[in-house]
Amino acid sequence: PDWLAGWKSFFENDSGVVIVPQGEIEDIKRVHHLILAGDPAQFDQLRDLLTGTCKSFVTAGRPHVYRTGEEIANAAHDVGALVGPAHAFTPWTAMYAYFDSVPACYGSAKIDFLELGLSADSSYGAAIPDLYDVPFLTNSDAHSPYPDKLGREFNRIRVAGKTAKDVIAAIRAGSIEMNAGFFPEEGKYNRTACTRCYSQYSFEDAVRHQWRCPADGGIIKKGVADRAKELSHGSEARPRPPYLRVIPLAQIIQTMEGASSPNTKKCKTIYAKFIETFDNEIAVLIDVPFAEIRAVHPKVADAVMALRNGTVVLHPGGGGKYGTFSLR
Ligand SMILES: [Zn+2]
Repeated sequence: PDWLAGWKSFFENDSGVVIVPQGEIEDIKRVHHLILAGDPAQFDQLRDLLTGTCKSFVTAGRPHVYRTGEEIANAAHDVGALVGPAHAFTPWTAMYAYFDSVPACYGSAKIDFLELGLSADSSYGAAIPDLYDVPFLTNSDAHSPYPDKLGREFNRIRVAGKTAKDVIAAIRAGSIEMNAGFFPEEGKYNRTACTRCYSQYSFEDAVRHQWRCPADGGIIKKGVADRAKELSHGSEARPRPPYLRVIPLAQIIQTMEGASSPNTKKCKTIYAKFIETFDNEIAVLIDVPFAEIRAVHPKVADAVMALRNGTVVLHPGGGGKYGTFSLR
């Protein structure tokens, strides 16, 4: 409630930014659900509906609700909000971590969208028959206080007007024109790997080792790529909107500077210079000509061009460790 109150004065603004109220809640099985509403009051109504099922509405950013996925989806629909599985393919706290299908998690309730999560792109869900009619969203899943986590994934949606209600209506109608996000290989759980030493294993080897790392006895976590293959059962992949693969500018700067974090003073200074010069990160990654980026930082310019030309070399993540990239 306090968080919502903090946003109140921004819902109507003159800057052309449409704010869509959104919340993530955890159900009784620890599956995370994403809820999108056209009106912040719908979250007050939802909280009323779920009264007595949750001890952490006031304290948690992602409250734990003692209800099933089906009950939560029905409650969301009762107040006119949209609901779908958050970061659906993540091997923890997500639908496909604990369930093999949408009905297994949501019963008779329908989902309005599916959030792919940082370790998956559209191709991972395109061959799952359960999802043929479900729009995919690519959101940033930004829960930490670092602003560079915002906008690391985004959607291009065709809307009839510039209000949150129009955005909700467009998602309901499946009017997603483009998804943009990480290379799935960059995600923390893309490959099957040990959660202790991050050694990666093929699916067959993981089974052979009974999901225990032979090097250190750590738990081997099934990667999103292997999980998606398993859920598709060799079904036909249906067409999806174009998926634009991007690497966050902060990460490009960090890699090209050889820094330990994107939040070092030097990296932040370079990032700020880019934003000052070109207004926003997406423009730098997609639109700004090479020569202009080069004038700010030659090595970053090389990396951006490699990204645009599809020639970056990816080193997949797994077991909880993010993937990385290098230039040829
Ligand atoms: Zn290990």
